[in-house]
Amino acid sequence: MSKIIFQAPPPRASAHEIALFSANVINQINQRLEEVRLRLRETQPVKVGSVTLGLYACGRGCLTCPHLKWSIWWAHRTVKANLFRAHPIQAPLRRLHSTGDFAAGAAETRRLVEEAQRLFKVRSELAKGIGIMRRALIRAADQSEEG
Ligand SMILES: [Zn+2]
Repeated sequence: MSKIIFQAPPPRASAHEIALFSANVINQINQRLEEVRLRLRETQPVKVGSVTLGLYACGRGCLTCPHLKWSIWWAHRTVKANLFRAHPIQAPLRRLHSTGDFAAGAAETRRLVEEAQRLFKVRSELAKGIGIMRRALIRAADQSEEG
């Protein structure tokens, strides 16, 4: 699979179709984010300065899981050895290297990071709508208990 081409739902799509459409888009986004995560390991050398993407579930049962967690590899000196350690970062685009060993994959790396950020934004927008649906369903269930 490659970059997702988003298609708008048909103009006269029913509520049922839109719900299915949303679920399908969310699945595609999640699959693509996993691909981007793996690909970022290939477009950069395995060394200090390499930016990695982690995907994690926050465990709060929220609708925007998995979240993106960006890190950068950093040299960590101990008494015994030089180790790599991943440091969390907030703005991955500002931390990308493009010279030396990084030059060959730099353009693709940048595109992948931008794509992941865009996909997360799209999915977060959809999650807002799904949150509204969830609350409506919970209210409906509450009311049916009362009635
Ligand atoms: Zn979450």
